[in-house]
Amino acid sequence: MLADRMTWKEYQQAIKRATIVLPVGSLEQHGPHLPLGTDVVIPLIIATRVAERLKAMVLPPIAYGYKSQPTSGGGQMFPGTTSLEGDTLVHLALDILRETYRHGGRRFLIIIGHYENTAFVGEAVDVFLRDSPEAKVVILAWWDLISPKLVEELWAGVGFPGWDTEHASIAETSLMLYLAPELVRADKILDDQAARKPNYQIFPPPKDIIPRSGVLYKATFASREKGEKLAREAVDAIVEIALRELK
Ligand code: ZN
Ligand code: MN
Repeated sequence: MLADRMTWKEYQQAIKRATIVLPVGSLEQHGPHLPLGTDVVIPLIIATRVAERLKAMVLPPIAYGYKSQPTSGGGQMFPGTTSLEGDTLVHLALDILRETYRHGGRRFLIIIGHYENTAFVGEAVDVFLRDSPEAKVVILAWWDLISPKLVEELWAGVGFPGWDTEHASIAETSLMLYLAPELVRADKILDDQAARKPNYQIFPPPKDIIPRSGVLYKATFASREKGEKLAREAVDAIVEIALRELK
């Protein structure tokens, strides 16, 4: 199921029939309580759960992403936030898709774990399709699959701030508490918020649009139970989408 654990013979057997799953994350600050690799850990574990149900093949994830934005990831100023130029991400994703196609892969499911990646991965896929006529690709971000009903339930009494602002907050902290609890510094979980959230971009970003902790909302409202509900809904939705769109 994990391509990098297979031999070439096993890969050869699997590639022709399997849906190919590619998680795309980042190395990015996630507050004092979550690791830099949070945006990779979440889609990779979700990918393996999806792959178990679909008998799919999971490629090694792209562990770096496009530049962190102040109002969706805290921006580029935090130690450890290590980002790619847009062009690099496009070509990295493109090379992986072309190589996998050359080996016989045709149905691709790309799971985005880092908010800023989506447009660049979309660009890579658009260019990929020009010379890969038999390819079919679905790109999705796990958070877009969470139903309004579950959002209403899990953010009851707190208020849902929007998925961009959920960085290192209730959703990601809950998912990590459920999927990879050993990576969460539970005693460091805190609530924070930027002094203001402009609906336009400012370069260079002023300090008052970035909370100093790197947590963009209320991480103390996270729980393992919320993480389990989010993960289950995301995995179920992805399996359904793959069965429908990548037949
Ligand atoms: Zn994240
Ligand atoms: Mn991110």
